[in-house]
Amino acid sequence: MHFRDTRFWIYDLGLLAGVAICVSTFSVAPPAWPPLWAWALFPILQLLVWQRGFPLPGIGMLSMERVPQVAALCLFAPLEAAFLNALPGLFFPFFNRRYRQNSWAVGLRRAVHNACMLWFMSFAAGLAYAAVGGPLPLHDLTIASVVALLVMAAVLQVINNLMMLIYFALDRRNLASVLTPRYLLLEVVFVPFGVLLALILANGSAAEKVLFVTLVVLFVFALHRLNEQRSHSQQRLATLDAAMAQQPDEQHQSRLDAVLEGLYQHMRALFSRRQLFIALREPGTPDFDVCVEEIDGQRLPPSRRPGDRGLAGMVYASGEPVLIDDWNTTPDALRHHAVLRPNEQPGCILMVPIKRGKRVLGVASLQHPMPHFYSEADKHSLLALAEDAAPLLADARTFDELSAYRYRLEQRVAERTAELEVSLRQNADLLEELKRKSVLLEKLSREDDLTALANRRCFDESLDDAIHRAQRYGEALSLLLLDLDHFKRVNDNAGHAAGDAVLRIVAALFLHHARESDLVARLGGEEFAILLPHQDISGAARAAEHLRAAVAAHDFSAIRPGMHVTLSIGVASWAPGMDRDQLLRRADVALYRAKDAGRNRVMLDGGSPPAVPA
Ligand code: GH3
Ligand code: MG
Ligand code: MG
Repeated sequence: MHFRDTRFWIYDLGLLAGVAICVSTFSVAPPAWPPLWAWALFPILQLLVWQRGFPLPGIGMLSMERVPQVAALCLFAPLEAAFLNALPGLFFPFFNRRYRQNSWAVGLRRAVHNACMLWFMSFAAGLAYAAVGGPLPLHDLTIASVVALLVMAAVLQVINNLMMLIYFALDRRNLASVLTPRYLLLEVVFVPFGVLLALILANGSAAEKVLFVTLVVLFVFALHRLNEQRSHSQQRLATLDAAMAQQPDEQHQSRLDAVLEGLYQHMRALFSRRQLFIALREPGTPDFDVCVEEIDGQRLPPSRRPGDRGLAGMVYASGEPVLIDDWNTTPDALRHHAVLRPNEQPGCILMVPIKRGKRVLGVASLQHPMPHFYSEADKHSLLALAEDAAPLLADARTFDELSAYRYRLEQRVAERTAELEVSLRQNADLLEELKRKSVLLEKLSREDDLTALANRRCFDESLDDAIHRAQRYGEALSLLLLDLDHFKRVNDNAGHAAGDAVLRIVAALFLHHARESDLVARLGGEEFAILLPHQDISGAARAAEHLRAAVAAHDFSAIRPGMHVTLSIGVASWAPGMDRDQLLRRADVALYRAKDAGRNRVMLDGGSPPAVPA
């Protein structure tokens, strides 16, 4: 809103003229002026609810102004009530510095406007109430009086809204965002409160009246306090959220710098000066940070200056502004506070604290070479500017600290994560290596090095399992023990390496001729064993003979020309009740029989050769 905007003046003067016409028309029947207590109570109550209004999100200010307004309309004639309700509108801008935008002229315009608006709506509502037979003063609630009250409330609200619409339209504000249905409803909600106040004022004893008015005041204060707490915590949360959401970016200036820059630009725009500076001081630190400084239009880099010296130190410590009209005639008590640059000749100095509540964050200072250049009004303007900037500065500082903290935290988390990833990768590699080794070890522990057949250990386990299965399912199971004949000679004649080669070839032959389910093992030296599940003695004898023939027929001349290898085989079958040692011994005995009988042959348990030709 602009003070010099003629549209507003035309509108407001029109309103004023309207009030005058109404008053002169109705002065035919001059009102009986309300008693003194009414002039005190209603305007004060209305000022209080405005001053201590309760901001509601998305709605605006909840002022409860309907309470005194409706009460006045229930107790006094339209013209009297209109003046009662209009009066506080006249005063309010002069009570509330923000509302008058720190300007008496704006305050005056707003006062005229508000008073006229309140006068009109109250007067119209009072007339409507009287027209539908609303009793004056209101003593009790009947159906007729309730209807009249509803009419009064509706007229109040409709005129109020119409006039606000005109005003906002002139101010080019977005009407939809201001006049929401919730906002309109909330005002109406307080009508019964006003009716109750009127009833108590009309009927109650003196004590009841005092008690109720006290309760209304307490209620308003309680709401206000509640809101202060709420908005305080909301503000903190918002700062925290914003800090968490912002990407730390070294390129961008900090938020504090941005707010300081804004304050600096405002000071430049509002005040002529030779020198200007804004200095902040962290609590508990000895120095001021001179964040912004300008001399003769030249911007200086940030610097520091002692916090306890100079006028700045004094203003910071006292929290009070200082205006030195003429430096040359200033008392020494003040002069000795100044810290001046070598060739500095100030005429007039204006310095104010930047305060948030009671906490002083820093100072803002202006200097002009001409004495008496700055006025008391300038002091108030600069104070108001500093007061507006203070919460922004404090929040910006918190914000920057949180951003920096978050940035450091993220750096650390990133470093730790990287370290962890490396160590996890190393661990995974180690684990993989360990797995491979243990698989190998497991394999090695069950495998014969030379022939890659199952070793003794594996054979022993498999024999136990096989006997267990045979016992359980009544299956057949046979065992061959195989021993190469005169193997010592092979070693002696062809060498140990040739002996090894023979062992490998024989093992391969065994594997080749055995069935899938058979277990071929090397028990040690040139001794082998083959487990034949599901085979009875005759089947086993056939298999043994087949193997013997295969080895005997194999051509070993590649190892040594003319070499022949034969083997002897003992065969035994498991019978129910037989344990592993018994089975082994029987096969062993059969093997020895085969050796004794001349080698290169198969001998069955019990001493007989197989029924197949040797
Ligand atoms: P027999 O017909 O009575 O079984 O006579 P043999 O010579 O085969 O029997 P003996 O038990 O006297 O000799 C076994 C030989 O097997 C002794 C050893 O030199 C040889 N031998 C044992 N293990 C290995 C081995 O791993 N490699 C080689 N090359 N020779 C082995
Ligand atoms: Mg042998
Ligand atoms: Mg042997």
